[in-house]
Amino acid sequence: MLVRVATCAVCRTDLHVVDGELPDPKLPLILGHQIVGRVQEIGEETDSKFQMGDRVGIPWLGWTDGDCAYCRSGRENLCDNARFTGYTINGGYAEFAVADARFCFPLPERYNDVEVAPLLCAGLIGYRSYRKTGNARRLGVYGFGNAAHLIAQIALYEGRGLFVFTRPGDIATQQAAKKLGAVWAGGSDEMPPEKLDAAIVFASVGPLVPAALRALAKGGIVVCGGIHMSDIPSFPYADLWEERVITSVANLTRRDGEEFFDLAPRVPVQTKTETFPLEQANTALDRFRAGELSGTAVLLMPNSDHPKQSEEPQTQPGRSRPA
Ligand SMILES: [Zn+2]
Ligand SMILES: [Zn+2]
Repeated sequence: MLVRVATCAVCRTDLHVVDGELPDPKLPLILGHQIVGRVQEIGEETDSKFQMGDRVGIPWLGWTDGDCAYCRSGRENLCDNARFTGYTINGGYAEFAVADARFCFPLPERYNDVEVAPLLCAGLIGYRSYRKTGNARRLGVYGFGNAAHLIAQIALYEGRGLFVFTRPGDIATQQAAKKLGAVWAGGSDEMPPEKLDAAIVFASVGPLVPAALRALAKGGIVVCGGIHMSDIPSFPYADLWEERVITSVANLTRRDGEEFFDLAPRVPVQTKTETFPLEQANTALDRFRAGELSGTAVLLMPNSDHPKQSEEPQTQPGRSRPA
């Protein structure tokens, strides 16, 4: 279907694509995989769950073949032939986007087009990372950027003890984490006051993986939430022994999206955003790269009705660091 794009949030993956760190992008390519828009035309999708004018969210997972071994075992996120929005199919840094309706989501009404955009990747992939931590009572997050901030709210809502690790010395982010409700916040070079049952590494910094492993209790799990990470240094086997696990999260399934968009408005998960007109997409990317944003960058498309930014920005004092 054809979607008139209203907003598109900027993700760290966009930077990895621009920097050539991910193999075989479609070229030339329109970036963007956190797209909010309205259905303008419905194609041959006679079974579309959407009507003309409906608001839809277009996520990273754009298409799967539906019949490989992964698709047939409920793991379409690993589909052998998957296509990804803003990477192997054109994305949403544009006024219009074409999407397969089967992979799009209806979006919760409580959010406007700007607020909801970051939920489409930071929220969804963060949620998949969070679910991999099972029933972890003490949950660590390494890197307190967009995805961590969203998932922290769900963890607190579900009564988990939250431990936040930032860049050493980033007191402002540590204070913001404590204000949100973290039990403890400190530098990634510090050990938490108690062992953790799980840790999610959102920062794309390989050395954080053995650091997180050392902070785990027996049977704990480290979940790597990013699509790209610098190399992981070697570490003693003793740090992994006692059934500790290291895993990664790749992409999302449609089921993750349905669960997440059901849960997010109940928490309610609040997003922090900073808006840019489409023409300033490169500025948004540059400021993201430099760690100069106080929320997720969201691009506003021309000729689209935009909600006013909430009168009371959710921005915490101090700069938030990208994960
Ligand atoms: Zn498949
Ligand atoms: Zn993303």
